[in-house]
Amino acid sequence: MASHSDSAEDRRNDVMERHREAADAVVPERTSLYIGGEFTEPAGGETFATIDPTTTQELASVARGREADVNRAVEAAWEAFETEWSEHSPGDRQRILTEIADVIEANADELARLETLDNGKPITEARIDVDSAAEQFRYFAGIVRENGGETMTEGSRYGQVISEPYGVVAQVIPWNFPLLMASWKLAPALAAGNCTVLKPAEQTPLSALRLAGLLDEVVPDGVVNVVTGFGEEAGDPLTRHPDVRKVAFTGSTAVGKQVMTNAAENVTDVTLELGGKSPVVVFSDVDVPKAVQLITAAIFYNTGECCEAGSRLFVHEDVADDVLDGLVNAIDEMEIGDPLREATDLGPKVSTEQVDRTLEYLEAAQDAGGRFLAGGDRPDDEVLSEGCYVEPTLIEGLEHDHAAVQEEIFGPVLEVFRWTDYETMMELANDVDYGLAGGVITDDVTQANRAARDIEAGYIWINSYHDLAPGLPFGGYKQSGIGRELSADTLDHYRQTKTINLSLG
Ligand code: NDP
Repeated sequence: MASHSDSAEDRRNDVMERHREAADAVVPERTSLYIGGEFTEPAGGETFATIDPTTTQELASVARGREADVNRAVEAAWEAFETEWSEHSPGDRQRILTEIADVIEANADELARLETLDNGKPITEARIDVDSAAEQFRYFAGIVRENGGETMTEGSRYGQVISEPYGVVAQVIPWNFPLLMASWKLAPALAAGNCTVLKPAEQTPLSALRLAGLLDEVVPDGVVNVVTGFGEEAGDPLTRHPDVRKVAFTGSTAVGKQVMTNAAENVTDVTLELGGKSPVVVFSDVDVPKAVQLITAAIFYNTGECCEAGSRLFVHEDVADDVLDGLVNAIDEMEIGDPLREATDLGPKVSTEQVDRTLEYLEAAQDAGGRFLAGGDRPDDEVLSEGCYVEPTLIEGLEHDHAAVQEEIFGPVLEVFRWTDYETMMELANDVDYGLAGGVITDDVTQANRAARDIEAGYIWINSYHDLAPGLPFGGYKQSGIGRELSADTLDHYRQTKTINLSLG
């Protein structure tokens, strides 16, 4: 194995060989569309390449689905719903969801390596994604019988309120947690009794296709359909399809607005999990090493490609120098490199487009007087600079209304603000269009509780970050979305209420 003291050529060959071997072992053979329980070619016969962001080499050629394919998938989903799936009892669905979890766990190593190849996330984090994906199916298997039915009697009137599935739902997911987002969407939709058409992101279609292959043995034909392709060509017709009864989307706020407009054409119910620009508030009483560890995880986990990333740091002036020194040291010690290696902390971003987008923000931040306390560019290393890497970056000195502070960069970039007055700090912390998440670091319960309530966001961590537990609803305030995932509330987003008013008189 090549080490950092080896020549660039040796290190490059080492990475290439490791990735070639892994790709040979785990890239799925079937990368066409998955419709009606079969892998099938798209009507137009076109394909597109999915790239390994570590090496920038092509991993696989994948079917480029368009409207005709979306129509076929929606039809297949309805047929499955009407002929079979709607007849399945909650108990049947519970068994099937449990089997899906089993099959994910049985193939965990393969799925994790595939995710790392296609997305670039460190293998240690990909394994967490795979475990969490299986956990989604187990959680919704556990609550599948919660039908939420009610009855009311009043004189000769006997009323029943029942929940019914929508039938066919459309689900569009992003590239930052490809398998995990597929499971966040599929598990509640199936638990509630729906059939689905899932569109993965063009950058990372492989784990959804592999999952489809695994589900083939477990789920009746047509219940889960996967249409790969581009947003404008496949996602757009899917989310405006008149026979789709519910649309669920995770991705950028800009596309979320478009999806909502599409759904409005047919007055289709929609849930959206969108962007974030979450504040992490650090009080003066913190244990500095512990705070540094939490802040580092909050922003650099998954290379900063997390909707909930803690990307704006509000640190109390009394501890600011120590915390910032600690962060610079932590960044120095981070292992940036091949995400297939166990020791790697930070892998590449998902694509060259995402690198360029991040670098544009960094350039604009520097032009506006931002000072890089760490990072600020691609890594200064011949081999790493050939992949989609960006250095972990700390910026101080920006005005809070600068685009780099207001907008979702979706990279390993943290903007720092010092504070002394709580009210002024909180006003800034809430001065963004987003409201997905927030973090509070302090051992003082009273101020922790106050800050958690004052941050305008749907999910607040106190003295932790990123740990999401099924059962605790996740979703955004403001432009971060509509609806909640990960909880019993999510089942209700996938079914509709029917009232039956029976006169016994
Ligand atoms: P998008 O929001 O474009 O992608 C999310 C999904 O939407 C993908 O499957 C995409 O397809 C699909 N999509 C795109 N256009 C349409 C459309 N008109 N109708 C229906 N579906 C569509 O994210 P990007 O990949 O473009 O990333 C841009 C930025 O968005 C990132 O830099 C980041 O800031 C943010 N983002 C936020 C995420 C979050 O979870 N909060 C996740 C991903 C991105 P396809 O990829 O095939 O084009």
